[in-house]
Amino acid sequence: SSRVLTGITTSGTPHLGNYVGSIRPSVRASLAPGVESFYFLADYHALIKIDDPARIQRSTLEIAASWLAAGLDPNRVAFYRQSDIPEIPELTWLLTCMSAKGMLNRAHAYKASVDKNLAAQADPDADISAGLFMYPVLMAADIVMFNAHKVPVGRDQIQHIEMARDIAQRFNHVYGEHFVLPEALIEESVATLPGLDGRKMSKSYDNTIPLFTPRAELRKLIAGILTDSRAPGEPKDTEGSALFQIYQAFASEAETTSLRQAYADGIAWGDAKQVLFERIDREIAPMRQAYQSYMDNPGQVEDILLAGAAKARQTATPFIAKLRHAVGLRDLR
Ligand code: ATP
Repeated sequence: SSRVLTGITTSGTPHLGNYVGSIRPSVRASLAPGVESFYFLADYHALIKIDDPARIQRSTLEIAASWLAAGLDPNRVAFYRQSDIPEIPELTWLLTCMSAKGMLNRAHAYKASVDKNLAAQADPDADISAGLFMYPVLMAADIVMFNAHKVPVGRDQIQHIEMARDIAQRFNHVYGEHFVLPEALIEESVATLPGLDGRKMSKSYDNTIPLFTPRAELRKLIAGILTDSRAPGEPKDTEGSALFQIYQAFASEAETTSLRQAYADGIAWGDAKQVLFERIDREIAPMRQAYQSYMDNPGQVEDILLAGAAKARQTATPFIAKLRHAVGLRDLR
């Protein structure tokens, strides 16, 4: 059987991009026969960006509740919080010692921050934590801990998966074949959703439409999506239209064709926004009640996550013992 692994950073309220790019496809994938799935709440990763404990905890609950409301069956998958698995930071150190610093220097997330500093004529490493620098190693540990073969990711994450392969390969070379080399699974059909401002929708950009925002708020946020100034009756471009791209991620092919025609016919932006609102609400509405019920019963979510952690540790605990032995450390367990 093949093993698939996916995580969402607990850095804020889950949004439509997380749903389309991660939650919805992962719930579908978990139903396929012969697949073992590992889905986790990446709270160690969140600490790289967030130093607000209440926000981390709230985000953890919101993302867990969203995944469950979207139909994730915790009996079919290992569904856990990253920080409930103490073997992960332990493995991170073993991998750190197998990671070339020069390789980490080239990681996109780190380099983007360095480039920003250089552009501002500041010290290249100003305000950059070692956590950001080490992020690809923590991610490698997440993956190889469970010997995941396939890691579904967006294009921006391909490089980090390659680094995980690289690190695992080095470890295997030095200490023997312990790790499966992971592969990125790029789902061509899964779009990157633009946010309200047209950039990638992201918790970090404050441009999101929260997945389970109340109906009235959803309508208001959609009304705020950036459009051009073309008047009703004037043909509209679907190319580069954030509204159209979001619609496409929810709609069937027939529905998409019909909105494309409406654009050509000069649909008013207000009407196009109403069409988008109704389409999203149709998909989300049936899950709202379940979401609210999980949010109102955090103890229930906690029990599910703790059971998931116990399940994940059935793999992690014996594996870390084997790895400690391989590198020459005493067995703790
Ligand atoms: P952060 O800003 O903290 O990185 P994020 O909102 O960009 O948060 P992540 O938690 O890093 O999202 O990503 C979780 C999952 O959601 C990943 O699989 C990622 O590919 C997917 N995802 C995030 N944003 C989008 C988007 N705009 N469109 C499609 N998928 C997305």
